Amino acid sequence: MKVLTARAVVFLLVLVCICGWGQLGQSQAKRFLVVIDPGHGGWDPGAIGYYGTQEKDINLNIARFLRLLGLYDEEISIVLTRSEDVYVPHRERTGLANRLKADLFVSIHANAHPKSPAANGIEVLVHEDTDLPTYPQSRALALLLQKRLTRALGVTDRGIKHQRLFIRWAQMPAVLVETGFLTNPAEELKLRSFLYQWTVAQILFDTIKEYLRHAKAR
Ligand SMILES: [Zn+2]
Repeated sequence: MKVLTARAVVFLLVLVCICGWGQLGQSQAKRFLVVIDPGHGGWDPGAIGYYGTQEKDINLNIARFLRLLGLYDEEISIVLTRSEDVYVPHRERTGLANRLKADLFVSIHANAHPKSPAANGIEVLVHEDTDLPTYPQSRALALLLQKRLTRALGVTDRGIKHQRLFIRWAQMPAVLVETGFLTNPAEELKLRSFLYQWTVAQILFDTIKEYLRHAKAR
C-alpha cells in the first residue's frame, strides 16, 4: 500500500513537472464548447469547382485546422460533427451539439454560382426565422464573422444572408459560413491551398473567441 502511495506521489510530481502547475489549474476551468460542422461529406460532395475541387474536402480541412487550434486553447474546445469523409445527416449534426449543450454551432461550407463564374467573396448565413430565441445571438455572431473574415482576407463582402437552414435545429446560436466560391476559378485555387484554409480557420477561431468573451461579459 505504501509503495503504491509513493508511486502515486512520484507520478503526480512527474505530471506536474511536465504540465506545470498553471496548466493543471487551467484544465479545471470551464472552456466554451464549439461544435464545428464541416458541410457535406461521403456521397455528398457539395459544390464542385471549376478545376474539380469538391466542397466537402475544403470544409473538412478548415474544420480540422479549427480542431487543431482548439487542442491547446485555454478558452475554447472544439468538437467536429465529422472528422472523416463520411455523410452525416443534418439532424445528427445539430443533435450532437444539442446533446453536448454546446455554446455555439458553426457550419463550414464553400459557395457555388453555376451561372456566374465571376461571383466571389464571403457570406455568413443565419436561419431566416427572426422569432427563433437564439436569432439575436446568431445574427450578432454572423455580423462579426462577416466583418472579420472579409477585412482580414481582403475579399468581397457579400453581407450576411437569411435563409431557411437546418441550423435552426441547434438550440444554441448557430451560423453557416460560406468561405468562398468554388465556381470562381481564382477563388477555387485559393480555397484549395492549405495556407488559405489555415488562415480562414485562424480568423474563425479568433472571432469565435472574441464573440464568446463578449457574450460572457454581458
Ligand atoms: Zn455546402
